[in-house]
Amino acid sequence: MIDKELLDILACPVCKTEIRLEQEKIVCAKCGRRYPIRDDIPVMLVEEAELKEEAPKEEAG
Ligand SMILES: [Zn+2]
Repeated sequence: MIDKELLDILACPVCKTEIRLEQEKIVCAKCGRRYPIRDDIPVMLVEEAELKEEAPKEEAG
C-alpha cells in the first residue's frame, strides 16, 4: 500500500495538482493521466503515464 502521507506530497508532474489513488494507479484529478505503481513506488513520470481516453479530435478545416 501507498502511504497516505506520500500521496499528499505527490503531484501530477504536468499539472502540479493533486492526485488520487485509484485501484493500482495514481490518477491526476485534472488531466486524468494515470501513473503506475511499481513495487509500491509511484512512478510519477510523464513518459510512463497513461493518458485517459479522449474523444477523437476532428481536424479543423
Ligand atoms: Zn495532471
